[in-house]
Amino acid sequence: MQNIRQVFQDQFNHSLAALASAPGRVEVIGNHTDYNGGTVIGACIKKRLYVALRLRDDQVIRLFSQNEDERVETSVSTYSNGDLPHWTAYPLGVFDEFRMLGSIENGFDMVVSSSIPTGEGLSSSAAFEMATALAFNELLGHDLPTSALVGLSHRAENRYVGVPCGLLDQTVVGFGKTDGLIVLDASTGRHHVFQIPSDVRLFIFRTHIRHELRHSPYEQRHRECRNVLIALSKVIPGIRHLAHLHPMDITAYDIIMDDILARRARHVVEEQRRVGTFLRTLHEGDIREAGQLLNASHHSSRSLFENSSPELDFLVGQLCAIPSVHGARLSGAGWGGAAMAMTSSEFSETDASAVADAYESMFEARPGWWTTSVCEGAKVESEDFVDAN
Ligand code: ADP
Ligand code: MG
Repeated sequence: MQNIRQVFQDQFNHSLAALASAPGRVEVIGNHTDYNGGTVIGACIKKRLYVALRLRDDQVIRLFSQNEDERVETSVSTYSNGDLPHWTAYPLGVFDEFRMLGSIENGFDMVVSSSIPTGEGLSSSAAFEMATALAFNELLGHDLPTSALVGLSHRAENRYVGVPCGLLDQTVVGFGKTDGLIVLDASTGRHHVFQIPSDVRLFIFRTHIRHELRHSPYEQRHRECRNVLIALSKVIPGIRHLAHLHPMDITAYDIIMDDILARRARHVVEEQRRVGTFLRTLHEGDIREAGQLLNASHHSSRSLFENSSPELDFLVGQLCAIPSVHGARLSGAGWGGAAMAMTSSEFSETDASAVADAYESMFEARPGWWTTSVCEGAKVESEDFVDAN
């Protein structure tokens, strides 16, 4: 990958003015709990996305994605009219948020370059939004705190891109810390950092199936969860978040829900409890038990929330059969994308390759995999871009 400064220069004939980067993330546990007001744990991975930016003194907007190998030109007065390639919605959504703050009148030039796989549940979208938000924040001299940039990026994805995602992705990508798990309480938007035990290793395996979140089962699940809440609020006054219910509530009232809605609700409510237990077991140093909770989370996704896939089930099944794997589960929205495994240091590259071999003979496609440390979140880059991935 070429130096992004050079790419910027080649594309636009002038140098960049700000460079920001943001990592992808894994969802460690807390599946579809965030938009249900629950707790969810994520961690930043080694793969990063970079945004180079320069503000212009006219109305022109030019965007170049090195990954898409595509350059798009629009303007401040026409950018929101649609008809642009879908990927431009992420930076333009963030730009739109800054415009609503009344702080920017003119256009800009931007280059994006990334090693985060897209559409695989590793949150390249939040990385794109957060890196863009940081670069604008820097150039406009706003000094907005990270929490404001997280909120602004989240709104950009909800409103402008049109994906009703919860707060997890932007929070983890924005606040990520080296060796720190980000524990988000999505009902308040607050988070805390939990030091990952030093003897835990994370592996990521990619299926060869990408997901598409707009007009997808993701939106359908979002609607189903809202319908459960509406139905239950008639008999349990004052409930605001599905994740805050007790499993007994689902048992008591499943009679007023159809079977599908009852299963969705049970997944969310039980997953919320697993998140708490996961933290407690990690805190007590019982990594084996924490791993079992990852397996249980996957099982619930598969059977109750129905957001897994044969490829994810296969990977998780293979991984869980290896003694040095503490636990494994799908990571992110599901229906394809990536699985993660929490392992001891005994889990070797040979083990990972053997899982990839088995997958390949089953699905005739080789899954990518890598091990990742837990990395720092989005930041303004002062040094030259170095692709360390
Ligand atoms: P995920 O966040 O899991 O990767 P999403 O569907 O939420 O999946 O977001 C992926 C989308 O983000 C891509 O389809 C693309 O539109 C956009 N995107 C991410 N990275 C880039 C990039 N480097 N260049 C252009 N678009 C990107
Ligand atoms: Mg995304």
